[in-house]
Amino acid sequence: MNTLLFFSNNQNKIKEIKSIFRSIKINILSLNDFPIIKEPKETGKNFVENAKIKSLFGYKNFKIPCFADDSGICISALNNRPGINSKRFLEKFKNNKEAFKYIINKTNIIKNNNAVFKTSICLTLNLNHHVVFEGKLFGKISDTPRGKNGFGYDPIFIPTNCKKTFAEMNNNQKNIMSHRAIAINKLISFL
Ligand code: IMP
Repeated sequence: MNTLLFFSNNQNKIKEIKSIFRSIKINILSLNDFPIIKEPKETGKNFVENAKIKSLFGYKNFKIPCFADDSGICISALNNRPGINSKRFLEKFKNNKEAFKYIINKTNIIKNNNAVFKTSICLTLNLNHHVVFEGKLFGKISDTPRGKNGFGYDPIFIPTNCKKTFAEMNNNQKNIMSHRAIAINKLISFL
């Protein structure tokens, strides 16, 4: 197998994935390489189901082996939410700054700043062959948002044993430890 489609439009994720794959001889395509298509609804009950909905959809549309990820953050002070609703949760606020204020306030009230980033990757090799890889990274919610890199919740997530938030790290530093890197490295070992 020398070409794989990463079914995503998220430019930050595409950059992360391509840089992790740089060391092996597999050409990674993304939705940037194809005319715009309507993406499937993420109606799954968990990360794995959503990842599979996307990888199967990509495989059916483009007829090449396809993988997709579904990721999110589970925050203890929010009863492990927003999880699979991480994107929608941010969109409910006027901007990310407001969302971060809400989350930090909750962690202060509950006095528990634990959080975990989770990723499930589904690789669809054909209609009946799907393989799932998972990555998890524990950490805590910072006292204030910090840093300008990355995306989503990066400014408020500090991985365990680190001082910097994800958004204060450069791409390489995040890629060494991130939930997505853990899952992608399992995918690479499989390949
Ligand atoms: P999805 O997997 O594209 O559905 O992503 C869900 C949402 O989770 C994203 O829009 C981000 O808000 C959040 N998310 C997933 N991975 C990361 C990450 O590495 N850093 C920060 N936020 C993330």
